[in-house]
Amino acid sequence: TERWRIDKWLAAAGVGSRKDVKKLLRKKEIQVNGSLIADAAAKINIHEDTVTVGGETVHYHPGPVYFMMNKREGRVSATTDDRDATVLDDIDAADKKNELFPVGRLDKDTTGLLFLTTDGTWAHRLTSPRLGVEKEYEVWLDAEPYHEDLQKVREGLQLKDGTETKPTKMSGIEQAEDGYRLNVTITEGKYHHVKRLFGAIGRRVTALKRVRMSDVRLDNDLEAGEYRPLTAEELEAIS
Ligand code: URA
Repeated sequence: TERWRIDKWLAAAGVGSRKDVKKLLRKKEIQVNGSLIADAAAKINIHEDTVTVGGETVHYHPGPVYFMMNKREGRVSATTDDRDATVLDDIDAADKKNELFPVGRLDKDTTGLLFLTTDGTWAHRLTSPRLGVEKEYEVWLDAEPYHEDLQKVREGLQLKDGTETKPTKMSGIEQAEDGYRLNVTITEGKYHHVKRLFGAIGRRVTALKRVRMSDVRLDNDLEAGEYRPLTAEELEAIS
């Protein structure tokens, strides 16, 4: 995966077709680590070698990409949508050239941690119900819940459609400016899961923000709609 034929790599990088690349080689426009290269079959190490075309360095590192985004309100977690802007509309054109998609779903009005990747296997591991990856949310409620109702949410309860929920971890319930806020951690993610959990005890979720998935926390430096690549440590933490 590290060693590529130079013509194939330059074509994949968007320099031109392989025929175009052969012409550039013939015209002595291409150098590897400062030396002229004329052979289209020459091999390069894409992580170590510096390739220039007409003196300009080419940057291209194919392979899976992994981003964390602080999803903004109003974006749909999908690659396309008939009516609304999607989370991909917040991704720069330069980062979109691969088959990038959001990992799992947040509601349109939910904010916070969302991964985007081109790696289907990785995404599947994070979202597979069987594996029960932890997801932590900050939840704002319209009114204070009764202690015994919170206890029901903690232990697991029956949603209005009959679904039994798994236990939910909770922390930090406190009065907020208008209503109440708390953190909840769930290991499942059915449709509108958190909203329906509190709906079952007669409370309305007025705002919802995901702050953690598995062992990776949302980077507080990311403004709404911003994203960055996952670090090696973060990738390690969820692999
Ligand atoms: N639970 C919800 O109700 N909505 C989300 O977006 C995520 C979890």
